[in-house]
Amino acid sequence: MNAGAVELAIVGGGAAGLFAAAVARDRGVGCVLIERKARVGSKMLMTANGRCNFTKDLPPERMLADIGEPVASFVRPALEACPPAAIAAALRDCGLRTRRMEDGRLFPASGKAADVVHVFGDRLREGAVPLLTNAPVCGLRRESGGGWTVQLQDFSVSAANVLVATGGMSFPKTGSVGDGQTFARQLGLAIEPCRAGLVGVETDERTVQRLAGRRYEEGATAAVVLDGHGRVRCAGEVEFEPWGVSGAAVYDCTRWVARHRPHAWELRLETADGVFMLRHPRPRPLKEAIVTVGGVSRDAVDPRTMGARGLPGLYFAGEVLDIDGPTGGYNLTLAFATASLAVEAIAGRRGGGRRA
Ligand SMILES: Cc1cc2nc3c(=O)[nH]c(=O)nc-3n(C[C@H](O)[C@H](O)[C@H](O)COP(=O)(O)OP(=O)(O)OC[C@H]3O[C@@H](n4cnc5c(N)ncnc54)[C@H](O)[C@@H]3O)c2cc1C
Repeated sequence: MNAGAVELAIVGGGAAGLFAAAVARDRGVGCVLIERKARVGSKMLMTANGRCNFTKDLPPERMLADIGEPVASFVRPALEACPPAAIAAALRDCGLRTRRMEDGRLFPASGKAADVVHVFGDRLREGAVPLLTNAPVCGLRRESGGGWTVQLQDFSVSAANVLVATGGMSFPKTGSVGDGQTFARQLGLAIEPCRAGLVGVETDERTVQRLAGRRYEEGATAAVVLDGHGRVRCAGEVEFEPWGVSGAAVYDCTRWVARHRPHAWELRLETADGVFMLRHPRPRPLKEAIVTVGGVSRDAVDPRTMGARGLPGLYFAGEVLDIDGPTGGYNLTLAFATASLAVEAIAGRRGGGRRA
């Protein structure tokens, strides 16, 4: 390994990368954060319509039950080590004032996602954590003597460890374009095909299209129906669109469909104005999804450390992995918790202590 190597290079300045850098700073792990866009946290700014539902105040066991298998077993060590309460405490410790909704969802008190991004920025500035922006990483090379070379367009960074936190593949304008999945593939790791989770559903049903503009926040449900039987039923917002339906209840159904890939399915909506059956529902494209289902295979990564199997010093966190949760703060929670676990594993390997 190069004598001038940084201890940790974090690739991607989104939710997972920013949280990882904050934990690294607290644990005394020397790191550099590398972001392809001009600014960090672009996707976080979009979350919950710009309000950022950053976690849900639930014990890990409840959260794992809501996430469901096959993801829950994989993320259990991360969520147990960094549960929602620890995430909220870490953000408050960074100076964020928070607001708890009746159902446990946590938001910044200001209602502005930008405040969450700013507190991370402040934390990194105080800790003098180097941040490279406008810096798309184009490849990762494993060095024969140990350690990694992170290749950028005109130069490279030597690092003992690399954390890939490049996100999923939705809303590519925010910078998450699938680079981390490409790096993993190039290094021989398995990738699960990426598809839209938490997304609206298109339909040709005229009765549904005619209701465009109606929105039900209370008492509405959506259900995935297989062979005439309701398979999963999700409560929450349902909104009728000119092209079909959206809203949290619909999104949670599409996540289930993306994960379990039933051969044929229908969507049943119950609202205050009646019951609607969508016979040939079509999920909207991946680029519009709130979360990507698929990514770096869970089998390729050790869930106790987020380290890639067979590639010492390489770690993954967040949506680049084949992990996802329902709406309600679960996906940011997963990004934060997996990032924290990876940095703790790196700190633990060399006995890194807390900074005074
Ligand atoms: C509209 C919308 C609303 C959402 N609302 C919520 C919500 O309220 N609550 C919730 O929990 N979740 C929500 N989510 C999901 C949540 O935002 C994501 O799951 C989360 O941001 C994933 O974090 P991440 O760090 O893995 O990826 P991202 O936040 O996508 O960050 C990845 C970063 O890596 C950078 N990057 C990519 N490739 C490279 C490269 N080659 N070199 C350098 N940098 C690179 C990107 O530019 C980006 O900044 C929402 C998502 C969307 C789209």
